[in-house]
Amino acid sequence: MLSNLQARDAATVLHPYTNLAALPQQGSLILERGDGVFVYDVEGKPYIEGMAGLWCNALGHGREELVEAASEQMRRLPFAHLFTGKSHDPAIALAEKLKELAPGNAAKAFFCNSGSEANDTQVKLVWYVNNALGRPQKKKIISRIKAYHGVTVASASLTGLPNNHIDFDLPLPQVRHAGCPHHYRFALEGETEEEFASRLAAELDAMIQAEGPDTVAAFIAEPVMGAGGVIVPPRTYFEKIQPVLEKYDVMLIADEVICGFGRLGEWFGSTALGMKPDTMSVAKQLSSSYLPIAAVIIPNWIDEALNRQSEKIGVFGHGFTYSGHPVAAAVALKTLEIYERENILGHVREVMPHFQQRLRAFGDHPMVGEARGMGLVGAVDLVADKASKRPFDAKRFAAAKVVALAQEEGLIVRAIGDAVSICPPLVITEEEIDQLFDRLGRALDRAE
Ligand code: PLP
Repeated sequence: MLSNLQARDAATVLHPYTNLAALPQQGSLILERGDGVFVYDVEGKPYIEGMAGLWCNALGHGREELVEAASEQMRRLPFAHLFTGKSHDPAIALAEKLKELAPGNAAKAFFCNSGSEANDTQVKLVWYVNNALGRPQKKKIISRIKAYHGVTVASASLTGLPNNHIDFDLPLPQVRHAGCPHHYRFALEGETEEEFASRLAAELDAMIQAEGPDTVAAFIAEPVMGAGGVIVPPRTYFEKIQPVLEKYDVMLIADEVICGFGRLGEWFGSTALGMKPDTMSVAKQLSSSYLPIAAVIIPNWIDEALNRQSEKIGVFGHGFTYSGHPVAAAVALKTLEIYERENILGHVREVMPHFQQRLRAFGDHPMVGEARGMGLVGAVDLVADKASKRPFDAKRFAAAKVVALAQEEGLIVRAIGDAVSICPPLVITEEEIDQLFDRLGRALDRAE
């Protein structure tokens, strides 16, 4: 039986990423408030937020400083834009801070409101810049199977998951998908991680050759793939991929929407994974998700190309009403200040070995084929048969069941196909990590 709120919810809210047909029977978990790594439903039941919302609520709930930063900015100047001839201090200070933190030669930040908009902007910049550079045929973008880059027309095209393409008439014709670096699922019999990484690099080389190097403009990658199932590439994967990209003058876009700002114990996942990207997309933990804000960080050579094109056309014809919204920018700045002042990265580095140790212990569980992760993110892959890695037959049954049982145990985690993903707030303590995995363990035992 649905509660009154659940019935009203099912009747009126069109839910993202939801089995819409099943919702009227199942009902939504309706949350009311949060405190630290805990959230509470309308009945007052507490849950450990084992997904930091959607991989984003780094500082947990109830940070008064962020509330203050938002209300102070709202009182002073709730809105101003960055279109022709206008700017404001929070956007300027945030762009300066991102430039200071970003690895490589970051020149400028372009602000958007979501990870999807950031990656959509990346696609448009790739096309625009290649026109500016006088190579209008160089437009294809290679993403990867199981990548997640968002849901707008261009970013959903980059996403390498069937549900984002089927019946949406996607992907766009300029997008290709290369192999997924998931050794457990896609390595050949007896292939080591090293050999697997070498094969993926060779396949990428062959793909670029087959497409015609003059037509391939960019390669986009998450350092650790998130919504595709928390896939950590082999240690030498990017080391082997990058020379291929350099050989064909293909730029590298890092999608740091999940990995950025400490998830892997570094400011950026690129640093942790040995990636040297040309541009980066950031969002989510940029504001600890207290308000929506995202950015594309670009180097000098792209900035110069944009200037040239702008000179020719008269305007850089791209931007959102809320690009660099002052309240969101003020909250993001305060978030970055807290990360530094409280040494959140240091905390992540301190607790992540314990997190990974508790996570990987599930590798021995009869239902778990692989327990994998890095930093403060991980997943357990459920299998019907460990030896053959055979997945469960029923559609999403096993992972969805574990997620539902975890919810009963007071833990929020997320099903991704046959995997259950875990991505807690960065501020989680070792004691809370123990509580999280104790609850997940009970859910797995009950699901057997
Ligand atoms: N890129 C990555 C790596 C993501 O994980 C996500 C969202 O989960 C996106 C892009 C899209 O971000 P948004 O949902 O804010 O549009």
